[in-house]
Amino acid sequence: MADPGYDLICQDLSFQYQGGKELRYPDLRLEKGSHWLIIGPSGSGKTTLLNMIAGLLKPEHGKILFLGTEIYALSSKDLDHFRGENLGIVFQTPRFFSAMSVLQNLLISNYLAGKKQSKERALYLLHTLGLKGMERKNVKELSLGEQQRLSLARALMNSPEILIADEPTSALDDKNCDELTNLLEKEANEFGTTLIIVSHDARLKSRFPNQIELK
Ligand code: ADP
Ligand code: MG
Repeated sequence: MADPGYDLICQDLSFQYQGGKELRYPDLRLEKGSHWLIIGPSGSGKTTLLNMIAGLLKPEHGKILFLGTEIYALSSKDLDHFRGENLGIVFQTPRFFSAMSVLQNLLISNYLAGKKQSKERALYLLHTLGLKGMERKNVKELSLGEQQRLSLARALMNSPEILIADEPTSALDDKNCDELTNLLEKEANEFGTTLIIVSHDARLKSRFPNQIELK
């Protein structure tokens, strides 16, 4: 069922946590290089959807075709490899290796994906994301806005086919929210990356023509 026009297809997805209500999702067909906002209030199932797309949580029903591959049909080893190769994730709360420098936190993404470490790409991303000169700092020395941008840099280290970001702007003021959204779009455009932003942040609504609303 490979469909080269689409990076991601989700069909009949649902998930239910023990004791929780069933979360059902609209079908998604995301064209290569398109940008999407998945918006919905807290508790509507956004992070659950993101985790399913990321190959971290198997849906109860339905299937996910990522670049034509049904990801949950892969062995866990192949799925880890597939994720490292094709997916960049900006988690809601950035988590870094606190004993490592900014640069080391970026290079480890290459390592974990089984790729050659590229200091050049790390420095390029730090530069374009406004973190130039911070490579030797400890991540604990960065402000929250800087950490969000570092998290984006890390997600871009392996030039992913799809970039997904969970509430990337929720902790940011209007100026930083605008800046981070601009950066996400710019980086996605530059590399033809498909972009999925999951958020309850109404400020983003006017920015993305492609939207899916969860209730
Ligand atoms: P959102 O990201 O939109 O706030 P979530 O996907 O985190 O929504 O959660 C959707 C629903 O599932 C919520 O009702 C939440 O309480 C519940 N939920 C999320 N994670 C768990 C979990 N690990 N165990 C049980 N219930 C969960
Ligand atoms: Mg969430």
